[in-house]
Amino acid sequence: MSRRYQILRALPAGLVAMCVTAVYELTVDPRLSIVQSHIIIIFFAGCVGFCISFIIRQRERAAQQGLLRLAAIVRQSDEAITSVTLDGTVTSWNRGAERTYGYSAAEALGHHISFCVVPEKHAELNLLLQRIADGEVVERFDTQRLTKNGTIIDVSLSVSAIKDETGTIVGVSGIARDVTAYRRTEKELHLRSSALEAAANGIVITDRQGRIVWANQAFSKLTGYSKEEILGKNPRLLKSGEQPDGYYAKLWLTISSGKVWQGEIVNRRKDGTTYTEEMTITPVTQDFGGATDTYFIAIKQDITERKAAEERVQYLAYYDALTGLPNRTLLQDRLSKALASARRQKNKVALLFLDLDRFKTINDSLGHSVGDLVLKQVAERLKKWAREQDTVARMGGDEFLIVLTAVKEVADAAVAAERIRNAMTAEFVVQGHSLDISCSVGISIFAEHGTDGETLIKNADAAMYCARESGRNNFRFYTKDMNAQALERLTLENSLRLALDKKELFLVYQPQMDIATGKIIGLEALLRWQHPELGLVPPDKFIRIAENSGLIVPIGEWVLRTACSQARKWQDEGIPAVSVAVNVSAVQFRQEGFGEVIRKVLYETGLPPQLLELELTESLLLANADVTFSVLQELKDMGVTLAIDDFGTGYSSFSYLRQFQISKLKIDRLFIRDVTLNSNDGAITTAIIGMAKSLNIKVIAEGVENEEQMAFLRAHQCDEIQGYYFSKPLAVDKVASKLRGDSPEPQARAQASGTQS
Ligand code: C2E
Ligand code: MG
Ligand code: MG
Repeated sequence: MSRRYQILRALPAGLVAMCVTAVYELTVDPRLSIVQSHIIIIFFAGCVGFCISFIIRQRERAAQQGLLRLAAIVRQSDEAITSVTLDGTVTSWNRGAERTYGYSAAEALGHHISFCVVPEKHAELNLLLQRIADGEVVERFDTQRLTKNGTIIDVSLSVSAIKDETGTIVGVSGIARDVTAYRRTEKELHLRSSALEAAANGIVITDRQGRIVWANQAFSKLTGYSKEEILGKNPRLLKSGEQPDGYYAKLWLTISSGKVWQGEIVNRRKDGTTYTEEMTITPVTQDFGGATDTYFIAIKQDITERKAAEERVQYLAYYDALTGLPNRTLLQDRLSKALASARRQKNKVALLFLDLDRFKTINDSLGHSVGDLVLKQVAERLKKWAREQDTVARMGGDEFLIVLTAVKEVADAAVAAERIRNAMTAEFVVQGHSLDISCSVGISIFAEHGTDGETLIKNADAAMYCARESGRNNFRFYTKDMNAQALERLTLENSLRLALDKKELFLVYQPQMDIATGKIIGLEALLRWQHPELGLVPPDKFIRIAENSGLIVPIGEWVLRTACSQARKWQDEGIPAVSVAVNVSAVQFRQEGFGEVIRKVLYETGLPPQLLELELTESLLLANADVTFSVLQELKDMGVTLAIDDFGTGYSSFSYLRQFQISKLKIDRLFIRDVTLNSNDGAITTAIIGMAKSLNIKVIAEGVENEEQMAFLRAHQCDEIQGYYFSKPLAVDKVASKLRGDSPEPQARAQASGTQS
């Protein structure tokens, strides 16, 4: 204790003694002697002084004990309490500091505090000491410190200046609390909440009362509701009404019993549109200081697009993309169900296999886009026509299959087929084209014509084929021998594959006559097939098979080469040169490099190009006009002449004739047959001749069989004729004498087709 303080402490006792003495002096009893008085005064003053001194001492002791206790608290504190001089030398280091920094007091005292400061914070430390030395008050701040084992810890530091008795700042005391764990938790919480906020999935938390207490951005994006709009609201504001009854009740039952619910829900956005979400709701019970509360965390994922894609895939797997009708797969499924039910109920099921007549011509002449629209319209009509329990499916191309269930009588199927044909009679208008469409229908009946779907479809198909073969626009019931016919087609195709190699194919030549001069001006090469078992097969029977199987390409090239080399041979033999006409199938014409084939054949056979005439059909010309035009141009440039075969049976458009530089029109024999009997045919023939003349195109009439037809054509200035009236197709060895004019004209009016011997 300082001397000054001791003097100060004695001072009050002295002062009190002096005061008491003075009082006594003034009021002293005169009866006492001076000595007595002084003794009393001194005693009294002594007592007072003692009392005062006792009180002061007691106070000092208490203060000292307080300080000691405080020092003990400081020492023992968990917080790191340290003090340093203004230059940073450690002057005190408590247990908390030892624990926090890992350095003992002995290791720390007397050293510069920087040993426990991370290098990046040295500047901050120096600045702090400086600011405190300057008298600035720095209270609390967060920083980082370095422990003995090299770990960096986060601390919350409170600092204050240490002053001496005179008030001079002599050092800095610091209380540091290790907040590393707290900061980590804080950071983690922050990260967690930002992760939830930024999550791609919509997250919404509702309380037990079903009120939304939190939702993230993705939820707002998904639903269109801002946070402010939905907080406190019930998620039922998203209800679309599209969930089945009891769906939500089940959901609530699950989550209120503490279980996780997972499922798909169709909800409605703020803007009224609906979307499908996949949702998981997890009930979470939280303890808030003893009181528990349950919340429901719903995680939502928008699966609208995925659902749409799924539906699309499903749709494509079971429905025809063009017409929206069930496809073959779905049909098979429906058919097997229909058959199962028919078996139980002892009913019949009718399969109507429908094929559009001459659809290929529409496709070829008006293009595939028109063809597609026709198919769509047909599908619409069939859908309207069918009853709800029937299935109308598209089998591919222009083929449809209708399954009629609960059929009582076989005759009902015939009535249905007739009604379908009637449904097709109303004209179709597609992109300004008015089209007449008819169909051929084949019918098979369960259980008469088969007991399984596959057989019934196959038999209905065979029946349809027969309906088509027998003149189209009608229907046929399946009969046993239809399969034999289908088999025959297959056999024919197989033997046709070998026909070229086995040299079973040959050509006959039908002369064409100039009406004015009566002279032969050309020969049409016509293909024949001498089948080893079937005998002579006419082209009408096998050309379509060749086209469908692609065999027409090699066969066509063979015809071309044979006809050209034969014509060249006749020329070489000194026979008057006439042109040779070769029929070209659309399949051949569309083959890439068709022009090249012609050029090659002409070159190899040495036939002058102007002696080759190619017979093309109208539908061939109109399909894909751009490509056609360039191929025709190539042919024209070679010098080949072009004729339109079977003119009048297609779409008889004159506009392309000049554009395509056509040299000749061949009026189909269908019109010539009744040209003198049917005024309509006569009018068509006359119109074709007139038009061709105006376009400076030659006209030849096919299938002229008698004098009346000949007279009609002559009267209407038809240029040429081809037909049995003049000559039947001739075997190759008969042509030369015909060309030399050895045979008399006109030839016998043969009625049967074939070659003239
Ligand atoms: P097309 O090109 O119109 O040939 C004319 C058809 O009419 C020939 O039948 C011919 O024999 C027949 N014909 C000629 N004059 C008369 C007549 O006065 N009365 C009757 N009723 N018919 C007559 P064919 O040879 O049976 O040929 C039928 C069709 O087969 C041809 O019709 C043609 O489209 C096709 N064809 C024939 N040979 C070939 C060929 O080498 N290639 C291609 N792609 N098709 C061919
Ligand atoms: Mg022809
Ligand atoms: Mg013809």
